[in-house]
Amino acid sequence: MSYFQYKNSKLFAEKYSISNIVKNIKTPFYLYSEKQLIENFLNFKKNFKNVNPLICYSVKSNSNPSILRILGKLGSGADVVSEGELLKTLNSGIKSNKIVFSGVGKTEEELKLAIKKRILLINIESESEAKLINTLSKRMGKKTSIGIRLNPNVDAKTNEKISTGKAENKFGLSSKNLINFCNNIHNLKYLKLDAISVHIGSQILSDKPYKKTLDIISNIIKENKLTLKFVDLGGGFGISYKNKDKKIKLTNYSKLVNKFKKNLNCNIIFEPGRSIVGNTSMLISKIQYIKKSLKKQFIILDVGMNDFMRPALYDAEHNIIPVKKINKKIKGPIEFVGPICESTCKFIKYNRYQKISENDFVAITKTGAYGSSLSSNYNTRPLIAEIMVSKNKLTIIRKRQDLSKLIKI
Ligand SMILES: *Cc1c(COP(=O)(O)O)cnc(C)c1O
Repeated sequence: MSYFQYKNSKLFAEKYSISNIVKNIKTPFYLYSEKQLIENFLNFKKNFKNVNPLICYSVKSNSNPSILRILGKLGSGADVVSEGELLKTLNSGIKSNKIVFSGVGKTEEELKLAIKKRILLINIESESEAKLINTLSKRMGKKTSIGIRLNPNVDAKTNEKISTGKAENKFGLSSKNLINFCNNIHNLKYLKLDAISVHIGSQILSDKPYKKTLDIISNIIKENKLTLKFVDLGGGFGISYKNKDKKIKLTNYSKLVNKFKKNLNCNIIFEPGRSIVGNTSMLISKIQYIKKSLKKQFIILDVGMNDFMRPALYDAEHNIIPVKKINKKIKGPIEFVGPICESTCKFIKYNRYQKISENDFVAITKTGAYGSSLSSNYNTRPLIAEIMVSKNKLTIIRKRQDLSKLIKI
């Protein structure tokens, strides 16, 4: 269920009327529901109950420390992609034996930290990276657990900007190179090959590419008689942003993964990001100005592409809904845009909408994943606040950045 609902025409986050919240907190801000976050994690876990996987939440989808702490308490591990994410995750209380490290360009400093902290897996994405980890591990007198990321050459049938498992994408090793690497790994004495990992893309709405990927991994493991502690099946599970988006059905996939696991006698890791945090937040904004042009009406918000980048970066469409519903309609087209000096600083267009006015408040929906974590100081704008409805209170989980820090020379 969604914890963002209208009651008597007013939009609520759990028990809190957003019309009231904006009286005390300056827009724009991200508004989260803790209940939604907890429910999403527990639902994911329930879906894969038979498989009993280690769930390594993908920190880059939302790295707010409060979110990491809540997920950590629920038993989540983490998938990190930088030194900063690794340190933040450890600080939030998630233990190193539940952390995996992904990414094609990990630096020597990042690898040293991961080796020193003895994380569960460093998922390598090139032969050169493996050699460097071997050299560093030898120098540090440790044996390091690694996974190899496979590029299965599977089309995830998602936006090409968030597809990662095709041969033309930079991620992982091809099947052939992976097998070659496995056959020679005995030369790298300070590495322990514990896993094959895979992550074929994001916002995936069909289980077919996942099934294909399972078959490919299964064949590689059997044909090469590999014994592995883990198979890390990555993330990418889509959510419905638009009404016509089908939700991905995980029950069937869960059964297949269970069979796969028993067959190969290994443990399973998942790295979900979006499906855990995507619908946990709305981005609350004020209408600054309304301007009529020859072709449409521009609804100019106080939130910009620097605060929420997905529409500009991926052509993502997020519905924008009024904080107060009224029964009067206006004819479009209207386009919601932000203040940044870029034509891509725009959010969504409608042909019909309810009557809205300057100084009204609206909510950009489902902004929890790749929202705040992708934001920047472009146009010298401070990072905006993040607020969470949490156990009967509103908690500031990130303060609006102090402008004085940004303007110091
Ligand atoms: C980004 C990423 C994820 C999370 O993807 P979602 O679509 O948010 O679930 C998981 N694994 C890796 C390696 C990633 O880069």
